[in-house]
Amino acid sequence: MSDCCSAPGLLPFEHALANMLAQVSPVTETLTLAIDQALYYVLAQDIASPLNVPPHDNSAMDGYAFAIDSLVANKTLTLVGRSMAGAPFQGVCQAGECIRIMTGAKMPDCCDSVEMQENVSVDGEQVTFLQEKSFGSHVRSAGEDIQLAQQVLQSGQKLTAVDIGVLASLGVAEVKVYRKLKVALIATGDELKSPGQVLRVGDIYESNSFVLAAMLQKLHVDVIDFGIIEDDFEAIKVAFISADEQADAVISSGGVSVGDADYTKTVLDELGEIAFWKIAMKPGKPFAFGKLANSLFFGLPGNPVSALVTFHQLALVALTKMQNGQPLKRTHLTVKCITDLRKSPGRMDFQRGILTINSEGENVVSSTGAQGSGILSSLAKANCYIILPSEQGKVPAGEMVNVQLFDEFL
Ligand code: AMP
Ligand code: MG
Repeated sequence: MSDCCSAPGLLPFEHALANMLAQVSPVTETLTLAIDQALYYVLAQDIASPLNVPPHDNSAMDGYAFAIDSLVANKTLTLVGRSMAGAPFQGVCQAGECIRIMTGAKMPDCCDSVEMQENVSVDGEQVTFLQEKSFGSHVRSAGEDIQLAQQVLQSGQKLTAVDIGVLASLGVAEVKVYRKLKVALIATGDELKSPGQVLRVGDIYESNSFVLAAMLQKLHVDVIDFGIIEDDFEAIKVAFISADEQADAVISSGGVSVGDADYTKTVLDELGEIAFWKIAMKPGKPFAFGKLANSLFFGLPGNPVSALVTFHQLALVALTKMQNGQPLKRTHLTVKCITDLRKSPGRMDFQRGILTINSEGENVVSSTGAQGSGILSSLAKANCYIILPSEQGKVPAGEMVNVQLFDEFL
């Protein structure tokens, strides 16, 4: 078996990413959805507030509204009306008077402050204020949350539960969003069986399409699962043609190296413009990327860790651009590594790490142990990548390293 990645001429990771992103065109089709249907869609419009939130000065307490000047002369004011949430005080009031007010009720024009009911004593219409108050006490000002015309949400934002609440608070009932992407998944390999099936000697359970489908759900795309396709030229060709007809992006795993059963390359050479890259990253053996007739194609390596890491670090970034989403924000920290790390120069490593806080309160990272590209449990134990640059050799415990925290996709 030839070892692609120790050979010269490897494509640096950043070049692969940039090259890939340059070929991605974001979808342009939009649809208008009621806000309760819009969770996790990518917004296709900026949202400026059509009103002040709250729309009027209102009380933050159940109590009594008054003008601060009235209290200077006298601690006892005369109750002349009520302001309830949804039923504001309609009349006028004068110096020396106060209004019964409930939380959320509009402030009467003649009042500027509120005292909570616990701090007054009431005798018929006479309300005695027991504490000093300052101007504006317990009043929520119009627009203190969001001001009229203020930009609240931006095109490209993926709508969260909180965003849906903010839209509702603005009275916005519908939003324009980009349509969901359709992504086809294809697992190739004669040895693969689905969970629930019986394994023959030499078989393994197929896991890549399950991890990828779960991550794609988090990306909020529609997944078209083609299941397991045998290592056969015709079967792979039929699957790729059908996937290309139905999807915006086709993702396969397995069969992209140069083994005897790796037909993906021959099929793709026939169907589209696919570049087979040898990316200087580990894990991540050969990675194929390019265009079929209608869709983008990502050919992930078969090894479960390689498939997942190349999907997370490369394909997911491209799909986010394709859905018009804002670039993924990934958090990096420089922390002390407390275990030795094996590495030889030549490729950028995405080792699996466990970030913890030591007894001195410092962030420290340790390796999850064996880093083989088939060891999926190394990812399950980890909460971050330890990213080691290409030229780096082995890392003795105690050195500072760059970690990338796992995001919501992992
Ligand atoms: P390949 O890239 O097809 O040569 O596969 C590399 C390794 O990954 C082999 O050990 C395969 O059995 C394994 N593999 C390929 N596809 C999958 C999959 N969908 N789920 C789990 N393991 C896989
Ligand atoms: Mg295979």
